[in-house]
Amino acid sequence: MAKLYFRYGAMNSGKSTALLQAAYNYEERGQQVLLAKPRIDTKGDDQIVSRLGVTRTVDFTVAPGEDIYSLFESNRARVLRDTGLDVSCLLVDEAQFLAESQVDDLLRISILEGVPVLAYGIRTDFQTVAFPGSRRLLEVAHSLEELKTICRCGRKAVFNARKVGDTFIFAGDQVAIDGLDVTYESLCGSCYLEESNGVLSSGRGPKIDFVYDSAPDPDFA
Ligand SMILES: [Zn+2]
Repeated sequence: MAKLYFRYGAMNSGKSTALLQAAYNYEERGQQVLLAKPRIDTKGDDQIVSRLGVTRTVDFTVAPGEDIYSLFESNRARVLRDTGLDVSCLLVDEAQFLAESQVDDLLRISILEGVPVLAYGIRTDFQTVAFPGSRRLLEVAHSLEELKTICRCGRKAVFNARKVGDTFIFAGDQVAIDGLDVTYESLCGSCYLEESNGVLSSGRGPKIDFVYDSAPDPDFA
């Protein structure tokens, strides 16, 4: 059975490089792949850009709410028509920006179509809260693999701290607006807490209200 893989990491952990390498490995064996990425703004960015300087145009982009299953099917048919070969793998960059229902479709594609799906993305935003697409991938992917990068202190970086100029920022929208001088630094938990003065999610994320019985449980009294 084909599987859904989620390969996640902090920013600068080489996700796009790993994706392009995986595509190359398939193609080196004469196999066909499809590359896709979510479209989160109107710029229509259809490039996968690796930090090592390799750039490649995706086969299709996915707008919010768009049917990723049909996009996969029509592109798979096109490849079959053009090359006479079936698609061996679907690779998705920036998968954190997919909707949860689109991630569900990735799982369906792997199981029902028998095509492995490799999704690459960032686990959490700059406030340490999971992106919706990443949360769903962590829930349903057959296989999880962490791509590692190093914090400035030498520990493993797990968080993505946002900076405007030289200043760390811990409030704002999940996706930064282009045009501002926004950058990100991958930090370990310790360095993140140091910069944020102990703040993690700034009050975001699920809140669970526990209700305690007033009478002690006899089994534990
Ligand atoms: Zn650190």
